Amino acid sequence: MQQSSVSVIGSGIGGLSVAIRLAISGFGVTVYEKNDRPGGKLGILEQQGYRFDTGPSLFTQPANIEELFALAGEPIEAYFSYRPVDISCRYFFENGKTINAFTKSSDFARQMQEVTGESPEAIEQYLRNSEKVYDRVGNIFLNYSLHKSSTWLNKRIFPALKQTGFDYIFSTLDQFNKLRLRTPEAVQIFNRFATYNGSNPYQAPGMLSLIPHLEQNQGTFYPKGGMISIIDALYKLAIKKGVRFHFGTKVESILTENGAVKGIVVNGEKISSNLVVSNVDVYYTYLHLLQDKISASNVLKRERSSSALIFYWGIAKEFPSLHLHNIFFSKDYPAEFRHLFEYKKMFSDPTVYINITSKMEPEQAPPGKENWFVMVNAPAGSEIFTNELIQQSRLNILAKLKRMMGVDLEPFIETEETLTPGGIEAQTDSYMGSLYGTSSNSKWAAFLRHPNFSSRIRGLYFTGGSVHPGGGIPLCMKSAKIVSELILVSRSK
Ligand SMILES: Cc1cc2nc3c(=O)[nH]c(=O)nc-3n(C[C@H](O)[C@H](O)[C@H](O)COP(=O)(O)OP(=O)(O)OC[C@H]3O[C@@H](n4cnc5c(N)ncnc54)[C@H](O)[C@@H]3O)c2cc1C
Repeated sequence: MQQSSVSVIGSGIGGLSVAIRLAISGFGVTVYEKNDRPGGKLGILEQQGYRFDTGPSLFTQPANIEELFALAGEPIEAYFSYRPVDISCRYFFENGKTINAFTKSSDFARQMQEVTGESPEAIEQYLRNSEKVYDRVGNIFLNYSLHKSSTWLNKRIFPALKQTGFDYIFSTLDQFNKLRLRTPEAVQIFNRFATYNGSNPYQAPGMLSLIPHLEQNQGTFYPKGGMISIIDALYKLAIKKGVRFHFGTKVESILTENGAVKGIVVNGEKISSNLVVSNVDVYYTYLHLLQDKISASNVLKRERSSSALIFYWGIAKEFPSLHLHNIFFSKDYPAEFRHLFEYKKMFSDPTVYINITSKMEPEQAPPGKENWFVMVNAPAGSEIFTNELIQQSRLNILAKLKRMMGVDLEPFIETEETLTPGGIEAQTDSYMGSLYGTSSNSKWAAFLRHPNFSSRIRGLYFTGGSVHPGGGIPLCMKSAKIVSELILVSRSK
């Protein structure tokens, strides 16, 4: 039996996931996407034989994708394959130390001891705690709406909160880490996980210590064909389940009447629908699609997450010292975050992240060459990114890599593209180019993210990185699950 029809605005990972779930549940689903292809922040750039994933590069929690295929009764192997990566990241420090973060915790702990003198027991204990808190607290907070009484009536939630130590909420992640780890390198590595959702480890709470569980315990993975293959697989699955797509089709507004959704406007034409899911940044949804300036400005009361400045470099040389994921840390991490969140400026000694998928699949670059995705954290907002600043940031990166790798890279850069926060905003309508919607810098950020539904407009739902439970592929997919469950519950009443 076909349920009623749903209009989904946007085909980012959240929009695609919700479309698949609702189609499987019997809804007629139509997705409207302003760009010419699905994926939103997950994009692809091909240049002179180099292939680049333009957005996300780190793949964790493939279970979210497996779940969709299992629900759809489709064999995932016919659409998508991936393999585990044994080193989640290679970390480089200005003092010359290099650490391989093995995903086997005993190997990682031993490596930390050998290179930095950190206690291996401290590392293993940290990771065990990370798992415990993820299982107890994360699983409830990330999988359910925090804005429904049914979640709070869930008997597990109060014991979970009670068992969580005081410092998970009242210490910053940095303070939390300094209490548990002795060496500056270990603290910096575990502080870095705040950037998973675009936050500042010197402000965000110790609760973010549950994030390393994803990378260091559950593991990191590489999808065959790169990150874009996630989108290609979900798009194919959506088509198979009967979802209709309109690309190059910008939704102009969402229609409401008497506190309920009535449809959307596309190319000046009204399309009736009692159910609308917006996968577009919630600020943009309020301001432009609902013309609701008050709700939009309420969204802005929460600090935006950080953004990024990215260089896609085709490098005419191979570098055996690098792995799939590489981080060259700033010498002064606190100053870097002060620049990002307080002064809203680029820092002269930025932490540089380099992703090279040709390490996993040589065909991602021409023979003997490598495809470098080079990213530094940037403050959200486009106005500071003049050509001069972009060039200066580029020089700072090259100088840092020369210092730390002993190579002048400039002669090896044979293709180059740049993406700024303004470019991210233009491509996806994410306000100020924030990668993850709002930051988690406040203690109560988890509770303050926008709900997955509108409390004033019946039939209007929100999925994606700007709403609960947050940004990043796994959380966007969880938001889609929450939305589809909320819709099914509301239909059964
Ligand atoms: C450079 C970068 C690096 C990242 N690294 C990682 C990483 O390593 N791992 C990770 O898990 N996450 C990472 N992220 C975050 C992750 O990409 C996002 O959280 C996630 O992809 C957001 O998905 P979304 O569902 O919110 O939709 P989005 O990707 O924001 O897509 C929204 C879609 O809506 C469409 N749209 C907007 N307005 C309209 C309209 N009016 N009508 C129709 N369509 C419209 C847009 O075109 C877009 O396709 C990164 C992001 C970036 C940019």
